[in-house]
Amino acid sequence: MQWSESGKRGVKMSDDLPRFDPERDTEWRERLTEIQYHITREAGTEPPNSGIHYMEDRKGDYLCICCGHLLFTSQMKFDSRCGWPAFHTEHDNAGIRRIRDTSYGMLRIEVRCGSCDAHLGHVFDDGPIEFGGERYCINSASMDFETEVDDAE
Ligand SMILES: [Zn+2]
Repeated sequence: MQWSESGKRGVKMSDDLPRFDPERDTEWRERLTEIQYHITREAGTEPPNSGIHYMEDRKGDYLCICCGHLLFTSQMKFDSRCGWPAFHTEHDNAGIRRIRDTSYGMLRIEVRCGSCDAHLGHVFDDGPIEFGGERYCINSASMDFETEVDDAE
């Protein structure tokens, strides 16, 4: 796989490093579970097929676990069989940041919350062509899921 310097579809890469805010870090350390903190603040990865949202197929919204920012909706989710929740598109207002990640001897595109800079996962270009061909491969532990309220009930 390869990516152009600017990423697909002219999306700009973010080169600026996140600013470390000790106050928010304290809050996150207290509120998040160990795995949630490790993934979002230390760019960890949960084991494949382990995440709570991987097989989730109800309607609803996926929010950043750290700040509640809306990232994806269930309409953007697809069954990639890759072991992690996968989305072909991000929400219009998500503003997800893309960063070059050269760890583990690979060139990958890391994705982070547009609001609080939480590490979410990576984006690959083997997603469904009909939605633009991207696959956001996201850790369950970096997201909260809010089911859609059914008015018919
Ligand atoms: Zn966030």
